[in-house]
Amino acid sequence: MRIVVLSGAGISAASGIPTFRDALTGLWARFDAERLATEAAFRADPALVWGWYRWRAAMVAAALPNAAHAGVAALADDGHDVVVVTQNVDDLHERAGSTEVLHLHGRLLASRCIGCDARCEPDPILAAPAPPEGGSREAPPTCAACDQPFRPDVVWFGEALPGDAWDAAADAVSACELLVVVGTSSLVWPAAGLPDLALRNGTPVLEINPMTTPLLPRADAHWATTASAGIARLRARLAQTPHDPRTASSL
Ligand SMILES: [Zn+2]
Repeated sequence: MRIVVLSGAGISAASGIPTFRDALTGLWARFDAERLATEAAFRADPALVWGWYRWRAAMVAAALPNAAHAGVAALADDGHDVVVVTQNVDDLHERAGSTEVLHLHGRLLASRCIGCDARCEPDPILAAPAPPEGGSREAPPTCAACDQPFRPDVVWFGEALPGDAWDAAADAVSACELLVVVGTSSLVWPAAGLPDLALRNGTPVLEINPMTTPLLPRADAHWATTASAGIARLRARLAQTPHDPRTASSL
C-alpha cells in the first residue's frame, strides 16, 4: 500500500527533543521564537541565533529515535511503499531507517552560506567544541567564497518552504492510498493543508494524536493515543487487511 506519514513535533517528543517553543529555556528564555527564527534576527545578531541553533543541533545529535520512528520505518519492512513528510528538523526518521524523508521545514543538522548557499563538510553547525549545556552565543563561521556567515538550513518565519520538498510531498500525498498524520498540531500552514489534498481525492486520512486538533472533524479516523502506540496499532491493522486502507485506518 502506498502510505504517506505526515509527522510533527509529537513524534519526536518521546526522544526528548523539545518543541520549538520549549527550546526557549535558560539563556534563551527572554527571547521569543520570532526573535530568533527570522533572517532579520540573524542579520541583527548572528552570534545569538547561531548559538541557539548550535545548541539545538547538539541536542538532536545526542537524541535517539523512539519506537514511533522505528514503527514508521518498519512499515516499509512490512512491504508498504512509504514516504515520510515531516515538519521536524531533526533526523530521527532517517536514523530509525526510513529512506524516503521529505523535510518541509529544513534540517537542523545542516547549514549553508546565507550569501551563496555554499555548504561545508563537515557541517559547521555540529563542529567541535560542542556548545556547553544550555548553549551560548557563538559567531557563525564565514563562507570561504563570499565571506558571508553560515546560517542554519531551516525554514525561518517569513520564508517559503523548500520548493522541491513541498512539490514532492504534494505529489506523494496525491498518489497515496492512506495518509497518516501523526504528532502534529495541524496548525502550521502550508503543511496543515496536505490532509485536504488527500481528502479531496477520497484518500482515507488517519490522525494519531492524543490531543484534539483542527484536523479531527475532517479525518476519517482519529486515534487519541501516543505516536508509538498509534503506529504499532496501525501496523497490526495493516497486517490483517494489507490491501484495504479504509478498514486498516478505521476506528
Ligand atoms: Zn558564500
